[in-house]
Amino acid sequence: METEQTAQSRWQLRADWSQMDWSGELIRNEFLSPADQCAWQAEVLGDLIAFASTHVPWYRTQFHKLGIDSKDIGGVEDLARLPILTREDLQGNSEQLRAEVLPDGHRIDRKVATSGSTGQPVEVWHSEHSNMMVGIMTQRELRWQRFDPSGTLAMTRGLHELGTVHERQKYPLDHSYHYPRWFNVGNHFDTGPSVGFADTNSIDKQVAWLDELAPDYLTTQATLLEQLAFAYQDHAPPASLRALRASAQQLTPQMQERIESIFGVPVYQSYSLNEVGHVAAQCREGGRFHIHLENCLVEVLNADDKPCEPGEIGRIIVTPLANAAMPLIRYDTGDLAELAVGPCLCGRTLPAFTAIHGRYRRLALQPKDSWAYLIAIQRAFSLRLIAADLLAPIRQYQLHQYRNQSYELRIRASHPLSSAFHRHVRKFWEEATEEPTHPLAIVQMEEIPWGRALKFEYFTSDFVPPPDNDPPTRS
Ligand SMILES: [Zn+2]
Repeated sequence: METEQTAQSRWQLRADWSQMDWSGELIRNEFLSPADQCAWQAEVLGDLIAFASTHVPWYRTQFHKLGIDSKDIGGVEDLARLPILTREDLQGNSEQLRAEVLPDGHRIDRKVATSGSTGQPVEVWHSEHSNMMVGIMTQRELRWQRFDPSGTLAMTRGLHELGTVHERQKYPLDHSYHYPRWFNVGNHFDTGPSVGFADTNSIDKQVAWLDELAPDYLTTQATLLEQLAFAYQDHAPPASLRALRASAQQLTPQMQERIESIFGVPVYQSYSLNEVGHVAAQCREGGRFHIHLENCLVEVLNADDKPCEPGEIGRIIVTPLANAAMPLIRYDTGDLAELAVGPCLCGRTLPAFTAIHGRYRRLALQPKDSWAYLIAIQRAFSLRLIAADLLAPIRQYQLHQYRNQSYELRIRASHPLSSAFHRHVRKFWEEATEEPTHPLAIVQMEEIPWGRALKFEYFTSDFVPPPDNDPPTRS
């Protein structure tokens, strides 16, 4: 705890926020006993349930139908009496789920819309308080990962998230957008500057930009970070870099290994959702994803909606605790995880996931074995399993699944692909399943199209109709 307090002392709240120094409480919560954590969350949950059953039409109706009084939900263990809120429930019911009034001192901040993998939009209203939690939880994560707030943060992100409309019209795509502080966390804390660059610039341009800027930290989409790592096989990345943060797509262990070995610095990922805010963040010591107890209550459930046994993979169900504007109780995130067992090397007692697995709502739309093929390709590119000379020319790859279940491996490379590379990939492909495998074409391309998606996907499928339009998570 003392180490955390020392790490926190590097962070100064900005003058207009100095009244809101929560850091002492946050640090205490990180080392609470499980019983005290439960008691803490039960109290907040009780208030949330009482509020939702009175001021939110959706829950008022539902509690009435189920014959449940809000007082019946005394703690986390009673939550199972309430139904799970699916993404489908959220679609088209956002007005029913919105609070008619807000508690004293709470105000509406903004509406966040995400279209998600299934293409059906979901709208969630956030309060100023839930929005503020994004900044506060981000700072906690940066403290855990020992970021130095005086450093320069480079970030590549969607052009629509940079500058003003006027600036975007005035400047070319490869313009650098300068900010006096870091995004989000800089609203509340003194930090060094940040510099933004559109992530739709070519990887070569992003490399040149990073080389010139020589930042301390870089935050970008996980797949772009991997492409940057591929590009830095040619020459050393900026020596100034101290850590990386990956957003948007899931960072697989293979990607993490490749990125860290080429950049020579750690890469971190947090788990957040537009509907909820920050759910969990990775610690340095144990690599686990610890849950932000103040922001959400998390259950991991099996196919029968029962809590998973230790080591069992289940669905992540989240109840956000800090957003009175639109309370979501037991929201099914569509993600899978495995709860960690036993103490973490970092000493924090916050519950944690060992890993967060692929999005099963995509999987549900794809034929059986689709994931096995993707894993085969990821293995084929794994640092431990591919010879350095086969990997050296690779700059980017994407696996595409056609309706007839034939696949195309699209590759951007600095040199023509060798026959040894083709043989290497085919070996992994043939081992993907025990059945005879579906056909694979290996195609070298000048540029792999992003399609309509705002983030690059390394696995695209004609079975998943519209591309995933979630804007990259802010971090
Ligand atoms: Zn830990």
